[in-house]
Amino acid sequence: MSRVQRLTGDCEGCGRPDGVWQPHFETVYCPVCAAKNDDYDSARLHLFNLIRPLVAVWREHWVARGMSPDLLEELVDNTDELVETVKALNTRAEAETAPEGGRS
Ligand SMILES: [Zn+2]
Repeated sequence: MSRVQRLTGDCEGCGRPDGVWQPHFETVYCPVCAAKNDDYDSARLHLFNLIRPLVAVWREHWVARGMSPDLLEELVDNTDELVETVKALNTRAEAETAPEGGRS
């Protein structure tokens, strides 16, 4: 009985009453929150599939040059520049789509 009750309920993301159990998230989401979380996971997987071959080539090159694998891991841990790049692209895209004149 409790299993049936757990299949539906309030969304854990936004509180809407039309939530449905999402086994892969192990929570209850409404259709909107389920789509957002699916998109997030898909975008993350897409990004890693795109960069994985590049990272493999990059690693092989720098190891061949004598850089230690530990140092390469440290470099990857410090990827603030990538975050700043995405933020700058977001800011530029927002500026390009903002209405002319700004204030009304
Ligand atoms: Zn929701």
